[in-house]
Amino acid sequence: MQVFIITALLVHFVFLISIFDIYFTSPLVHGMTPQQTPLPPPAKRLVLFVADGLRADSLYELDEDGTSRAPYLRNIIEYKGNWGVSHTRVPTESRPGHVALIAGFYEDVSAVAKGWKENPVEFDSVFNESKYTWSWGSPDILPMFAKGASGNHVYTHCYAAEREDFGAEDATKLDTWVFDNVKSFFQSARNNQTLFSKLNEEKIILFLHLLGIDTNGHAHRPDSREYKDNIRKVDEGVKEISAVLEDFYGNDGKTAFILTSDHGMTDWGSHGAGHPSETLTPLIAWGAGVNYAQRVASQLFEDEFLKEWRLETWKRQDVNQGILPLEYLNSSGHFKAESMFANAVQILEQFKVKMSQKKETTLSFLFSTFK
Ligand SMILES: [Zn+2]
Repeated sequence: MQVFIITALLVHFVFLISIFDIYFTSPLVHGMTPQQTPLPPPAKRLVLFVADGLRADSLYELDEDGTSRAPYLRNIIEYKGNWGVSHTRVPTESRPGHVALIAGFYEDVSAVAKGWKENPVEFDSVFNESKYTWSWGSPDILPMFAKGASGNHVYTHCYAAEREDFGAEDATKLDTWVFDNVKSFFQSARNNQTLFSKLNEEKIILFLHLLGIDTNGHAHRPDSREYKDNIRKVDEGVKEISAVLEDFYGNDGKTAFILTSDHGMTDWGSHGAGHPSETLTPLIAWGAGVNYAQRVASQLFEDEFLKEWRLETWKRQDVNQGILPLEYLNSSGHFKAESMFANAVQILEQFKVKMSQKKETTLSFLFSTFK
């Protein structure tokens, strides 16, 4: 009997300790060599719009009168770009959502102990790998990516944290603030030779973080006039920014655009869990290197959305957040092959780092490599 109790206690003890080992140590590894394809990329610059808290159905569905509340983006889906639903993971919160989009990894569970606002571990991101990144938006999101970046090449333009209150009355102001600042930024670049030449470099990123829709959803719920009108405002803003860029770059056809969101929202205005209203986010991509929408006679999806959205004949390309599907690329087979190869070698890099870590902490006679 005593032996049984002691054994039972030991088993529980081991389980308890293992929880800390599994959940409170970061799975991230460091020291990999960044890989890239040797071929020239189709785009010189990327514009990333993240409409915080925007549900896929709220963007794609038609209004009561049968028209789209995002006519500019609807036109892109039908004639100029590619679209689908991006599937995010729990927790459907802003920080892990943005980390998945921009750094390419899912929630680091050890982050739970550190709160949701900041990532506790350093990580590499597409911003860090860019030549320059300029970002506009919330002070809760932008600094996270500038802080981890090596060298001074990720620039942030945030409204002051207390000014987030200026969105209290009308949260769309959080988004018009971003659009207005991007416009005046490009205006000022015309008279600033240093900035002008930086903006004409390759591998640059413009990131517009739009918090209005999320704020309106929390305050008024997603089926409110406020939430829907905010989507209209974002659509207009995306249209204006595209025009500003086309003008600035003289229609050089070297700009790629992506619009998505970090997570959705439940009917009652919350997020964090795994309901489809929280995990289904819109994804629209267009511009340099992106395929045109494909017409199809029919397509099969488990959800009933396509009919409701009247998009049955426009091929829907779903993605899982953090993974780029080849169907979105408008490039040669050679380019796609090189991209897949670079991706595979990058994953192998992680394996190598993990292996050498393991080797260091294991007694040599217990360590054997796989054939
Ligand atoms: Zn968010």
